[in-house]
Amino acid sequence: MSNFKVIAKDGGARAGVLKTTHGEIRTPVFMPVGTQGSVKALSPDDLKNAKSQIILGNTYHLYLRPGNKLIKKMGGLHKFMGWDGPILTDSGGFQAFSLGAAIEHGVKKVQKLKVKSQNYNSLANTMGGDMVSNSYQKKPEKREKLRENSKGEREALNKSQESRVKSPEKTKHTFSKITDDGIVFRSHLDGSSHLLTPQKSIEIQLDLGSDIILTLDELLSPLHNKTYVKKSLERTHRWEIESQKYFKKYSKKLLTPSPILFGILQGVYDKKIREDEAKWIAEQGFDGISIGGSFGTSEIWGHDSVNWASGKAINDTFEWVTPLLPEDLPRHGLGIGEVANLFGSIEWGIDMFDCVSPTRRARNGSLYVSPKSRIYSNTREYQSKKFTININQQRFSRDKKSIDPTCECYTCQNFSRAYLRHLFVSSEILYHRLASIHNVYFINNLVEKIREAILDKQFKKLKDKWLG
Ligand SMILES: [Zn+2]
Repeated sequence: MSNFKVIAKDGGARAGVLKTTHGEIRTPVFMPVGTQGSVKALSPDDLKNAKSQIILGNTYHLYLRPGNKLIKKMGGLHKFMGWDGPILTDSGGFQAFSLGAAIEHGVKKVQKLKVKSQNYNSLANTMGGDMVSNSYQKKPEKREKLRENSKGEREALNKSQESRVKSPEKTKHTFSKITDDGIVFRSHLDGSSHLLTPQKSIEIQLDLGSDIILTLDELLSPLHNKTYVKKSLERTHRWEIESQKYFKKYSKKLLTPSPILFGILQGVYDKKIREDEAKWIAEQGFDGISIGGSFGTSEIWGHDSVNWASGKAINDTFEWVTPLLPEDLPRHGLGIGEVANLFGSIEWGIDMFDCVSPTRRARNGSLYVSPKSRIYSNTREYQSKKFTININQQRFSRDKKSIDPTCECYTCQNFSRAYLRHLFVSSEILYHRLASIHNVYFINNLVEKIREAILDKQFKKLKDKWLG
């Protein structure tokens, strides 16, 4: 029996309830990313007060430090980090593989990196984990333009290096390598070698005590050609089946009620491939489906130019695949979390989202504002600014208003833009907490409002209010 129930629909948009060991989740739902057993700057109480229902943990980071066996000994990730709500963990493949993909496609900056933790940290920062990087802190405005979502961030970084790509064939893997058995990678902490197999990934996630576990897959890039994509998808299918077998065998031995397992729908921005993948994953008996892969365009696939993260590709992909997926399974849009993309994805029946944007943006001075804040003159301007203000700007230095006057978060109820700006320019630690509270609340609250709109059959109306 499915753990998920759709309770209302408005067009393709769905409102549902997902049951997990650590409580029920009302969907659509946004999941803040807790890269290293912590959503940066936020305590579990802060997260709950910011309306978080579930958080995401990064398997790659927790496996390397402090280690899954240690966390298991400490009673599991929930107990270890003091969070009693549901946790979804990724497979770890995204970070491990991202390094390899970037290198394969000739990202010179990546190739030049040496095995030093500082460099690895700054690289890993672009790979889906929510890590602090000096380069991000120093140039928030420049980086802001490169950022769309966690996948977009990595791809945008690649794009920024794109002009330097000469010959993908001549480049070599340095830090990670895809083999049929799994992903061979080197730790960003100490350079040690590791092999992440489908079984190993599930073992780590079971040790962590995750509520929702993801299968290992190979992330595709728009620059992978058709032959490679075919081979890769066959490998991902094998990995997913192996993950499932291991999960079925070992999850039954757990003392606590079993976690659930999501399969990954891979692919590139190509209708036929995405449809075939949707049909395949629909037949595999997973408890839910995470939709990942490439949302970028490239000449290889008959598109006009290379674009590493396209909003249109996201919407098209979901439009193609969701009619082919079982209605009673939750659908997770991997790495999606910007305002316009949330509306676009929910419209096509996506139920769950995760993204590092709210917390990373917060730390960089990029704070969300709603159209009701009247800070910009029209919805197009809000969209072009990604519904954010840059609190670093001089114009906020005497501004008594809260970040978003319509927001009911702790920060907006108690502090002015002027104070937040002062904390930001003074590099005060409190800034990170207050800004993160606002951004996480803002996105959680928006998704909650979207859910209410679906229940009231007002989704389109709400979408038009925001996106025009
Ligand atoms: Zn607020």
